[in-house]
Amino acid sequence: MVRIGVAMLQGARHEHCEAIQHAAYEMNAEVEIVQLRKASDIDSTIHGLILPGGESTTMRIASQSESLLDGIFYWMVTYPDRPVLGTCAGAILLANPGHDQTPFIDVEVARNAWGRQRFSFEAPVEISLDTPDNTKDATIELARDKFNHKPLPMAKHAAKSQQDAFPGVFIRAPRFNQESINCRKVAMLNDETVGVLDGSKLALTFHPELTDDRRFHRWLINQITHNNR
Ligand code: GLN
Repeated sequence: MVRIGVAMLQGARHEHCEAIQHAAYEMNAEVEIVQLRKASDIDSTIHGLILPGGESTTMRIASQSESLLDGIFYWMVTYPDRPVLGTCAGAILLANPGHDQTPFIDVEVARNAWGRQRFSFEAPVEISLDTPDNTKDATIELARDKFNHKPLPMAKHAAKSQQDAFPGVFIRAPRFNQESINCRKVAMLNDETVGVLDGSKLALTFHPELTDDRRFHRWLINQITHNNR
């Protein structure tokens, strides 16, 4: 059984949990989501993890009481081959973990580099990453949440082909210093790199969990099953 941890500090964490559920369904994989809230929640039984987007400063502050980020970084150093997906603020944390921790991705990142919130935008992103196909034609209905909110319906056949552009959602997004990229470029917004892969760490400056395209979440599951083979 694949176990994926999601850092529940702040930001779009529930959306990531939902996205993993969808991706697992699309791949016929059995996945358990482990919501990480304190350092002791993360251990050797976690096969991969997600650092969601939100506000990296807030995440660092929220982490202080239960030392979750320290625990996550320790886990990442201990298991360097286990895949991590960092989105937006999560990408900032991978590039700049702080606490004297060596960065996990070899690229400089500038926070809020597109400007203020009203300069947030959506745009198609070209991706070059091996992502397993969605094998399902239908979609699943997720259960209502504790507020009785019904999750957004997922589009049928969402991006079945690897060649399709990815719907990039950029919310007060960071930008990679383009000259500083010393790892694989896997997502491009026109000429600008907006996603990088450094070993097992995938860092995106946008929010795939806010779309119905589960390619990056399928990538994460696939990396884990590959590691465990
Ligand atoms: N602006 C946020 C930060 O600096 C990142 C934005 C996001 O994750 N959507 O942490």
